[in-house]
Amino acid sequence: MPTGHIVVLGAGVIGLSTAIRLLEQGYEVDVVARDLPQDPKSIAFTSPWAGAHHVSVATGADMRMHEFDKRTFEVMSSMIEQGHESLFYCTQMEYREQPRPTGEADETSQLSLMSRYHPDFRWLDAHELPEGIQHGATFKAILIDTPTYLPSLATQFEKLGGRLHRCESLSSLSSALSSSSSPSLARADVLVNCSGLGAWTLVPDDKVFPTRGQLVIVRAPWVAEGKTRLGPGGVYDYIIPRPKSGHVVLGGCAEKNNWDPKPRPDMARRIKERCLALCPKLLPPDKRGRGTIDDLDVVEDAVGLRPTREGGIRLEADRVRIEGEGRDVPVVHHYGHGGYGYQSSWGSAEAAAELVKAALSSGRSKL
Ligand SMILES: Cc1cc2nc3c(=O)[nH]c(=O)nc-3n(C[C@H](O)[C@H](O)[C@H](O)COP(=O)(O)OP(=O)(O)OC[C@H]3O[C@@H](n4cnc5c(N)ncnc54)[C@H](O)[C@@H]3O)c2cc1C
Repeated sequence: MPTGHIVVLGAGVIGLSTAIRLLEQGYEVDVVARDLPQDPKSIAFTSPWAGAHHVSVATGADMRMHEFDKRTFEVMSSMIEQGHESLFYCTQMEYREQPRPTGEADETSQLSLMSRYHPDFRWLDAHELPEGIQHGATFKAILIDTPTYLPSLATQFEKLGGRLHRCESLSSLSSALSSSSSPSLARADVLVNCSGLGAWTLVPDDKVFPTRGQLVIVRAPWVAEGKTRLGPGGVYDYIIPRPKSGHVVLGGCAEKNNWDPKPRPDMARRIKERCLALCPKLLPPDKRGRGTIDDLDVVEDAVGLRPTREGGIRLEADRVRIEGEGRDVPVVHHYGHGGYGYQSSWGSAEAAAELVKAALSSGRSKL
């Protein structure tokens, strides 16, 4: 059994999944964060805002992401089989306005990579394509009920013996180890940095930026199928059912470097119009065929900032100097999961746990 005391900075889906894997491997683990899963939603904390579904966006340009997503699908599938209450299978419809790529580009396209592990995958026949759609596919995907999944990770972490601490907003990575909330943090052997968008100032890493996502959440418990429509230039619409609450998440938008935390009425209108065209069943049964977006039962207009990073996820070992103590501690950076933090969480957490193991053994070999 490995030994070592690890402090994880961040209690989003990335910090908690990583902390759980580290506990399972026998380490002593503390998580320290400004925002915790049960807190009211705030713009600086991304995880509570996500839809979310497991529908990979990996292509041949990022096979590491494909592997993380594939592994996470495997882990979440077994969590469903064990009766997890916040994960559900659903039938997913994927529509593309562009023609299907050919040759090598087709082999590693987003849909072809998903065909390698999604059950019930098949390409859609021409007669199944809505107007304006040139190709598409259907398969079994996973829905993640984020309002309950995130707190369930915190519960699992604490049941495994982990300790969760709230801290103030930190101004440096090293202050995570001198946080006044617990003296035990100061004796960490490794710090794991899962601070999401916070890494922009904490590291600091100027490759990190927000990608603003606006959502409209409606009540429509009769909608069971997930749908995505992707057009040229990154225009896309999606429908993510939440079977547990009967809500359905409508999106989407991806505005790079936009920090605006407030929902914009023009965007909310655009999302409702496009999603209603994609899924007329969003309307209550008595309004179908004649209703408009004003007949949608809106529960919430929401905005979240995806912690995006040029070059993708940073998974890297480094060292951090402890202010005023003249020593440094290994740090494993694990942030920058953009719009795919849930669907890559377990694969990415396992890779981070490997880096922790390597950091500990290289530290010990130097003693
Ligand atoms: C609208 C929207 C839809 C999305 N849909 C999906 C989807 O369908 N599928 C999917 O896989 N992903 C989706 N995502 C992306 C997903 O939500 C993110 O990738 C994920 O939540 C990132 O998690 P994280 O743990 O890295 O960051 P966060 O959840 O932001 O957590 C960061 C943690 O670090 C702490 N922290 C940061 N800075 C400091 C500081 N200075 N001091 C102390 N603590 C600090 C915070 O308090 C927090 O605990 C979506 C995101 C949005 C916004």
